[in-house]
Amino acid sequence: MTTTEHAAAEAPDRTAAGRPLLAVEGLGVEFRLRDTTVRAVTDLNLTVRTGELLAVVGESGCGKSVLAHALLGLLPGNATITGHAVLHHPDSDPVDLVTCGQRHLARRVRGRRVGLVPQSPATALNPVRTGRRLLTETLRAHGRDRADAEQLALDVGLDPADLDRYPHELSGGMAQRLVTALALAPDPSLLIADEPTTGLDRPLVDHTLDLLRRRCDNGSAVVLITHDLAAAQRVADTVAVMYASRIVEHTDADDLFAAPTHPYAAALLDALPDRAFRPVPGEPPMLTALPPGCAFAPRCPHRTDTCASQPPPTPIAGDGTVACHHPIRTGAVT
Ligand code: SF4
Repeated sequence: MTTTEHAAAEAPDRTAAGRPLLAVEGLGVEFRLRDTTVRAVTDLNLTVRTGELLAVVGESGCGKSVLAHALLGLLPGNATITGHAVLHHPDSDPVDLVTCGQRHLARRVRGRRVGLVPQSPATALNPVRTGRRLLTETLRAHGRDRADAEQLALDVGLDPADLDRYPHELSGGMAQRLVTALALAPDPSLLIADEPTTGLDRPLVDHTLDLLRRRCDNGSAVVLITHDLAAAQRVADTVAVMYASRIVEHTDADDLFAAPTHPYAAALLDALPDRAFRPVPGEPPMLTALPPGCAFAPRCPHRTDTCASQPPPTPIAGDGTVACHHPIRTGAVT
């Protein structure tokens, strides 16, 4: 069965999204190095609504994981963050995750209202506590019954007997499922899952993706950061395609997979085994040396002299944007 057929056979219920939960405006992240500055996220705008699963896709090093860490205040000391990322809640005032400060993030947001499935589970787990202790402590801290630990383990596809292992006794896939269970334990309204299927075999990949989908169908929201386009196609409502620190296309998932508008998005889809299976030509640019215009220009078959200037995000049909001077979907730009 091809990726496309597989996704079609288990088509997610892409119900109308709810109220805005996270509104990101003009987000930028730079890292100061000894001799240079790395611009990892540039002028990023997006909104995540309750019930929405947003997939952020793109090649390694495009800024996806930095975005996740920026939203949770987990950037290192040499980072500068600008813009706004406002988290809404029906029963409390909105909070700007960029300006609210570490104290507020630690006490009210991180691991509470916003959960994170980290990309490197092995380094995220306390090595001297068993999975069961880590999970029951997290459940207790959030007022939940410690008996929920075994159900959470089952939810993520982990044998409850494996909860009695220490992190060094877990395989990569088991550790991945344990950090997912830990992120779900507080029942956050927004879950940021950074490559949550790393190290899992295909049935467990699908199990994890369907678990994330069900959270959204029950009213939570998920930002799924992944390089796996098949994963995004299986469960996402919307997709943001990142390239060289910017979102280049942000649109409805069905629209993107049916007819991508940005040449980079089209090239990523062409690389899928059940499509042209043709790798994206060339290499992404270094974030320390981004060109002044469109960063995709050296790899783009549609480039013209106009592309020497930065293309601004432009509305496209549906409710999306594309940042390209020559979008390839005919009639897409509104
Ligand atoms: S702006 Fe130009 S170079 Fe960049 S993706 Fe569009 S057509 Fe290609």
